[in-house]
Amino acid sequence: MAFCPNCGFQLPEGAETCPNCGASLLPLQQPYAYDPSDHTADFETQDIQNNKLYAMGSYLLGLVGVVISLLAAKESPFAMFHVRQSLKISMCEMLLLLCLIVPILGWIAAPVGWIILFVVRLILFFQTAKGQAKDAPIVGNIGFLK
Ligand SMILES: [Zn+2]
Repeated sequence: MAFCPNCGFQLPEGAETCPNCGASLLPLQQPYAYDPSDHTADFETQDIQNNKLYAMGSYLLGLVGVVISLLAAKESPFAMFHVRQSLKISMCEMLLLLCLIVPILGWIAAPVGWIILFVVRLILFFQTAKGQAKDAPIVGNIGFLK
């Protein structure tokens, strides 16, 4: 149920203007909700098309993919965005190694963490394949490498 933001009148479905006060309602019906973790619009379409494979490789090949991207696509803001995210994931993976020092609890936590990070990599890989640039789930909130 939608209401006019101007006068509060209850709106019929699909209305483009309010039947009561005539206010335009079109901005309300934009199909894409604003997503603060989505940075796709910051990058040029040409950049995304040309460097998508490097960005995807950064996730799938881990540090090897990062090095390839740094060598081949350093000028691409799109590829470097994904390189930074892949590096964050790699750092988390290495930090999990430290968990192994803690007997039993750490031995359980580290593999669980690696599985989660692997899923994060896959999610980002497929988002990148669609030409998107989104913050990584979980690790995206980590402040370093911004
Ligand atoms: Zn109205």
